[in-house]
Amino acid sequence: MSLPNTPSLNLIAGEWRSAHAGATFDKLAPASGQLLAQVANSSSADVDAAVATARAQFDGGEWSRLPGAERGRLLNRLADLLARDAEQFAHILAVEQGRPLMEMRMLDVPMSIDTLRYFAGWADKLEGRQIPTAGFMGRPTLNYTLREAIGVAALIVPWNAPLMIGIWKLAPALAAGCTVVLKPSEDAPLALTALAGLAAEAGFPAGVFNLVNGMGAAAGATLVSHPGVDKISFTGSTAVGRIIARDAAPLFKRLTLELGGKAPQIICADANLEAAIMGVAMGLFVNQGQTCAAGSRILVHRSRYNDVVDALAGAARSVTLGDPLDASTRMGALINARHRDRVASLIQSGIAEGATRVAGGEALPDEGFFVRPTVFANGTPDMRIMREEIFGPVGVIAPFDDDDEAIRIANDTPYGLSASLWTQDVARAHSLAPKLRVGAVAINGWSPLDARLPWGGYKDSGIGRDLSRTALEAYTEEKVVSLVM
Ligand code: NAD
Repeated sequence: MSLPNTPSLNLIAGEWRSAHAGATFDKLAPASGQLLAQVANSSSADVDAAVATARAQFDGGEWSRLPGAERGRLLNRLADLLARDAEQFAHILAVEQGRPLMEMRMLDVPMSIDTLRYFAGWADKLEGRQIPTAGFMGRPTLNYTLREAIGVAALIVPWNAPLMIGIWKLAPALAAGCTVVLKPSEDAPLALTALAGLAAEAGFPAGVFNLVNGMGAAAGATLVSHPGVDKISFTGSTAVGRIIARDAAPLFKRLTLELGGKAPQIICADANLEAAIMGVAMGLFVNQGQTCAAGSRILVHRSRYNDVVDALAGAARSVTLGDPLDASTRMGALINARHRDRVASLIQSGIAEGATRVAGGEALPDEGFFVRPTVFANGTPDMRIMREEIFGPVGVIAPFDDDDEAIRIANDTPYGLSASLWTQDVARAHSLAPKLRVGAVAINGWSPLDARLPWGGYKDSGIGRDLSRTALEAYTEEKVVSLVM
């Protein structure tokens, strides 16, 4: 396994730099609990330096004069380099996240490359509009709009899919002509640090893509309130999203917030049960359940309820836990000990509140931060496991009697990120989808993630969208120019 050459550093103004006074923090490997890397622990001095160089490139530097086609060429070059090093990145991600290598090869790395190429294609297509009006004071006017890059974008990334989500933000920001300061999560800094190295190799001018490692409450908070930052794109918990929205408000910073979720997976009476069980298990267990779209509330029509309970319990019991680099492993470790303990305490709350545990929940050896896939039946809407984002491999099954009740339970949450609907009745599918208060509905599938489709939440799941043309425009301002003729 090879790790980045410079795992502990920041990339600022095209140079690898230690954090101020050489400060570092320890990053542990989730599957072993052993030290994996010592990483730069940035302070406000490091953030100031990163923002200053990003600002200089945006306000009249080489980057500000580069045509869109050239920005697109650089993004495509970065995609080429990531494709060249795909296997190395899959390994880094598997080890730093404790997640099966197979998932990195099949999902995170290919999707990251695809996202870079998709936004590379947009870089020379940021067009304005010509808009007719009745004129100005009796004289005709020529009115048109310009799409201009917002400025310096701070990109704050979580640990659960660091490369993929980092690129969801980086690619549209650079395509639009912004410069960026990216802060990885302290729990998954290595793949993104390696990506910063590839950006330098791709030929992005120094200071366009800066990376500062460090803690959320220090480096992250400094970025959020920094007067040199114009836009914040954050993915993470709803609790931190709330703090960021508050701290960014005094300077009216542009905000994209991609926050938590508590996705319902609705299995209707007419569902193809075999396909539904496979899809629901994937939505529940991929990435150890550490996804914003984790389908942890499984709502089942009463006529299929017992079949689904049996099948999902069987699916949970068949999952092989183990070393993320082992080809037979289907589930790895949770990200850190604190998170494992939180998931374990939510499992205990499910038992205490009267849910029926039908799979998992057993204790595991102390090495690494593992939790067995766990399924509860007889969930009721008031239970903590039905209300709180668990972010672990824990699902709860609840029955419903008709479509109205399914929609009522599905929407009975402050979150609104995504949902799945399993039915073979096309009319039912399309009449239920609009009733779900979420940003994405998968019919007979899970979590429609693709660079071309907007991704984001209603309600406490956030503001704005990642991916698609919508995300590109979120890194721009729209200006009107009006000529009185
Ligand atoms: P987190 O909120 O703890 O941290 C996310 C990032 O914010 C990290 O880089 C952290 O260092 C930084 N941060 C923490 N406090 C900060 C502050 N005060 N100011 C600025 N930055 C700060 O989240 P996490 O545990 O890394 O990620 C898990 C959460 O992310 C889950 O709730 C999950 O649902 C959510 N998520 C959402 C999406 C989506 O697309 N909606 C995708 C993935 C993850």
